[in-house]
Amino acid sequence: MRLADGDIFERDDMTRVRIAAMTIFLSGAVVDTCAAEQLILRGVNVFDVTSGELLVDRAIVIEGDRIVSVSPDAKLKSQVDDTVLNFTGRTVIPGLIDLHSHLLLHPYDEASWNDQVLKESIGLRTLRAVPAMKKTLEAGFTTLRDLGTEGAGYADVALRDAVRAGIVEGPRIFAVTRAIVATGCYGPSGFDPRWSLPKGGQVADGPTEVRRVVREQIAAGADWIKVYADYRRKLGDASTPTFSQEELVAIVDEAKSAGLSVAAHAGTSEAIRRAVLAGVSTIEHGTNASSEVLSLMQEHNVVLCPTLAAAEAMATYRGLIPGEADHPRLVAVRAMFKRALDSGVTIACGSDVGVFSHGDNARELELMVKFGMTPKQALQSATTTAPQVLGRREELGQVATGFLADLVVLESDPSKNITRIRNPILVMKGGRIVHRRTP
Ligand SMILES: [Zn+2]
Repeated sequence: MRLADGDIFERDDMTRVRIAAMTIFLSGAVVDTCAAEQLILRGVNVFDVTSGELLVDRAIVIEGDRIVSVSPDAKLKSQVDDTVLNFTGRTVIPGLIDLHSHLLLHPYDEASWNDQVLKESIGLRTLRAVPAMKKTLEAGFTTLRDLGTEGAGYADVALRDAVRAGIVEGPRIFAVTRAIVATGCYGPSGFDPRWSLPKGGQVADGPTEVRRVVREQIAAGADWIKVYADYRRKLGDASTPTFSQEELVAIVDEAKSAGLSVAAHAGTSEAIRRAVLAGVSTIEHGTNASSEVLSLMQEHNVVLCPTLAAAEAMATYRGLIPGEADHPRLVAVRAMFKRALDSGVTIACGSDVGVFSHGDNARELELMVKFGMTPKQALQSATTTAPQVLGRREELGQVATGFLADLVVLESDPSKNITRIRNPILVMKGGRIVHRRTP
């Protein structure tokens, strides 16, 4: 049944109960009564992320948490029992994926990173992450790889599990837990050596110890391992490599033994080179990556998460006027992004959100376009590319049959103008509507 644009027709709960009872009675067995119920989005234009084309006037049929068909709308005959959402002329894209978030952080202009790590309780930080997850969903981001709790222990695992259990609303989370740092190579720093302060990562040195912490983090629920392959030794210093080749190899080997992949924070060419040769899957930031090392990444199928939005946010906190691009940090990042595009390395959306406001993840895609990508490429970086990194290419990142029904309905086509991904009309995660507004 067709209704006015944006209207939602839902059968009443008693009808559902009656059909459920009937299904059980007829089959003589207890079945998933929702399985036969279909939710249909009609009249939509679907952004095909693989071809980059807009498929006009389609019907998307969803059953349970999956998309069961995407077909020309005119050919679809819906049943009276189906729930129909009519969004004629609106654009549907897959749920967006940000591969670099920090749900346990909030913007540094609200509280410095040091203060968050040292003064805020893990309880407070975890509770603050709950509305942050909601804002993330409302922005159309249905999956996050959360790259470190920054001193909040295993709170990301708790968030992930609470979302899975339906206790709180949030995106799918791939958690790295504490992240691994070398002695003297992470904050909080700059204090007199007699103070022993908690760190933003888990300290480990030497091949034996790094293997032990990888095992510890996996046992505590990590889905990914993160290592800081370079960092500054003192505030104001330039970054230098932290872990030796041998240590990085041990980290990747131990993670891979358990079927996990490794993300490396690295901005210097030497740290990137070591991390790539050790077998990491992604490089985070890559701020000063040379063309040679970007080509090495490309040869080894290592993906870059450029975190442009965090660089811009940090520049803003240090006095950049928004819209200007002459802050030295941003100039360097922009030049790196151009080298990355020229090198052919795969680039995924990873924003470092948490440094700036949760729900503002689209800022990364907007900067990607501002710095040289087409809107289609930017969309692909947050849809098809990201699931390849996550090892979930069969079920995430596409509006296609068999994929999880993570969908975002937009007013108009974002492949023409990337800012159109903001303020979705409707967001669905796993076949469930998690956000909707009146268009
Ligand atoms: Zn980060």
